[in-house]
Amino acid sequence: MSKKVKDFGIEKTLKNLGIKDENKGTSTGGKYFATGKTIESYSPVDGNLIAKVKTSGESDYNKVIESAEKAFKEFRLIPAPKRGEMVRQLGQKLRQYKNDLGKLVSYEMGKSLQEGLGEVQEMIDICDFAVGVSRQLHGYTMHSERPGHRMYEQYHPLGIVGIITAFNFPVAVWSWNTALAWICGNVTIWKPSEKTPLCAIACQNIMNEVLKENNLSEGISSVLVADHEIGQRLVDDKRVALISFTGSTRVGRMVSANVAQRFGKSILELGGNNAIIITQDADINMSIIGAVFGAVGTAGQRCTSTRRLIIHESVYDEVKNRLVKAYGQLKIGNPLDETNHVGPLIDADAVNMYQEAIKKGKKEGAKFIVEGEVLKGKGYESGCYVKPCIAEVKNSYEIVQHETFAPILYLIKYKTLEEAIAIQNDVPQGLSSAIMTQNLREAELFLSHAGSDCGIANVNIGTSGAEIGGAFGGEKETGGGRESGSDVWKYYMRRQTNTINYTTNLPLAQGIKFDL
Ligand code: NAD
Repeated sequence: MSKKVKDFGIEKTLKNLGIKDENKGTSTGGKYFATGKTIESYSPVDGNLIAKVKTSGESDYNKVIESAEKAFKEFRLIPAPKRGEMVRQLGQKLRQYKNDLGKLVSYEMGKSLQEGLGEVQEMIDICDFAVGVSRQLHGYTMHSERPGHRMYEQYHPLGIVGIITAFNFPVAVWSWNTALAWICGNVTIWKPSEKTPLCAIACQNIMNEVLKENNLSEGISSVLVADHEIGQRLVDDKRVALISFTGSTRVGRMVSANVAQRFGKSILELGGNNAIIITQDADINMSIIGAVFGAVGTAGQRCTSTRRLIIHESVYDEVKNRLVKAYGQLKIGNPLDETNHVGPLIDADAVNMYQEAIKKGKKEGAKFIVEGEVLKGKGYESGCYVKPCIAEVKNSYEIVQHETFAPILYLIKYKTLEEAIAIQNDVPQGLSSAIMTQNLREAELFLSHAGSDCGIANVNIGTSGAEIGGAFGGEKETGGGRESGSDVWKYYMRRQTNTINYTTNLPLAQGIKFDL
């Protein structure tokens, strides 16, 4: 371990979170085992090996499913507010471990320490939210058309919820799903990204403490650190009632088809291609901050990262010049050092994709006004640091239609707001969108039926940085799923309509006569 990393206290962080040099990547509650191959987790921050993990093998998979099935039989009988109490305790533990977990997220994934801590705060927030929801799993009561009859609907847990997650939110997405799945009475099995296995082990270790202290079944929370083949097993397994998948549109398309084939349920949180419209009535200062944070935060590796700026022709040059100036001031380097704005990409593959996208863009006619490059030299030894770049493009370019998970920002000029909205919607994805304007008419048009077609539409804030209270997710190739806030708990339950006849007659609905 390099001296620099020691300075940031990583060794102590790993120890506090129960991460060893060699870890077992399968755990059902407090039981750890793993018979699969070993993977190594290298930090994109400095290229050092953080730790090794023995992944899940075939026999581990079955053990985990059996443990989950057994736990579900007991867990579903625990009253929802009591299950909420378990989630409340997880929230308390996360407060206790916030600094360590946030630092591990930053070191293993590469996002800034502030964003790592923010991710853990989101976990705490969803726990708080879920505790409240555990007392509000409401169904409607209806007036029956038949005399002496009562009708109502109720919600039951589904069973095993499989959670497959992406590398870029290595802890929060687990908790978005588990906090709600658990209060609804489900048990969960997590297949995290193989790029961030240690974050998953740390979360499971924290949850194990809660299970142990409350004498709860181990199969309530399980983790399978493994590659995509085990993910595929989970997707195809009839015993897994719901698959919540967060990842690329390419993989999500297969997951969606395979789960549907077996009539399972799925929540899909896939790629985005998010734009901010900057109108002639925008506050330009705010627009620049929103755009730069949205484009370079997490080195452009958020599903909600700002990829396109659609700028009114009257303010185009001003915005462009100020962006170039702002990009000139960005500090790129170790994300644990809070004076840096931009950290590394996740790995060498991501760097290749960044370079490929720039090449393709240039071929199609993109004019780069801030050039991209892979950074070399002191502090950049991992090879994962790249320079955020900006290009003037047409929305129709193939590369602009595609989500490149890197800090590449595209500028597009428009004349009328109707044209800007059409450009904003003219991509296959539909996750997040924003308009910067001080004009009420423009804002309302953007939010109207004729406005943004995305799952998230913001006014005077950027595309990234969602709050727990709102339902999160997107339309079109983003998959249509919703997670976290509002009434999304319903996705984790099955609805049942009950009709009770308390008379001595059996009248049929729709007045049908059937006399014997
Ligand atoms: P990815 O699709 O490569 O991998 C995601 C997960 O799927 C990983 O755990 C991986 O092991 C697993 N997987 C791969 N093939 C599989 C298969 N055949 N069956 C089952 N599981 C399989 O995505 P990534 O590179 O880790 O993450 C980046 C992508 O995730 C981006 O497209 C980003 O927009 C998206 N994302 C979306 C959201 C959202 O909420 N919409 C949030 C975060 C990330």
